[in-house]
Amino acid sequence: LKYASARFLTSAPTLASCPADSGAEVAFAGRSNAGKSSAINVITQQKALARTSRTPGRTQLINFFTVGEDSQCRLVDLPGYGFAKVPEKVKLEWQRHLAEYLQMRASIKGLVLVMDVRHPLTEFDLTLLDVADERELPVHILLTKADKLKRGAAKNALSQVRSRLREWEDMVTIQLFSALKRDGVEEAHQRLDAWLDG
Ligand code: GDP
Repeated sequence: LKYASARFLTSAPTLASCPADSGAEVAFAGRSNAGKSSAINVITQQKALARTSRTPGRTQLINFFTVGEDSQCRLVDLPGYGFAKVPEKVKLEWQRHLAEYLQMRASIKGLVLVMDVRHPLTEFDLTLLDVADERELPVHILLTKADKLKRGAAKNALSQVRSRLREWEDMVTIQLFSALKRDGVEEAHQRLDAWLDG
């Protein structure tokens, strides 16, 4: 697929206001600041398709992007989670909303889970793996900011995450990624193609 053709479709504040649940979607999730927006922008070869930001917006929207000619093939940017400066109650509300999307959305073919290679597998990352597992949704993990580690250390981090997720190896694939160096883009495209082109 031509990911560079990705265009903003719509933002949805709730599950009910998402676009029609037909066609195929790949959703991106990750802890705030993990590098999710940067990853989406590099994968789609665009400067600011997904907004990179230091502080999260007040409203947490699900953003939809179309890939290709019609709107039947979509990338979905889910709200970042775990941002420290948000009250616990609001945090839980956002997390429930996100899990609900992953549980209910029929057109979702796979979940890309973006993690900072230096701080992978937060508690809510593991919760999302459980949610995905419950509906047998495949997950691709981008261990991003790999440029922040030396090559050996990055490879170690990759193997550690692999071994911690051994029980899920049938549904989970993992790769190193760097938005800064544009490393791992080809591998990410192949995974998205497998989900969206099939
Ligand atoms: P998001 O909150 O998950 O969408 O994270 P962003 O994409 O906004 O990135 C958070 C911060 O990490 C920003 O300052 C980015 O410039 C930085 N960042 C994102 N990806 C990378 C990367 O691959 N390498 C490095 N060195 N920094 C990155």
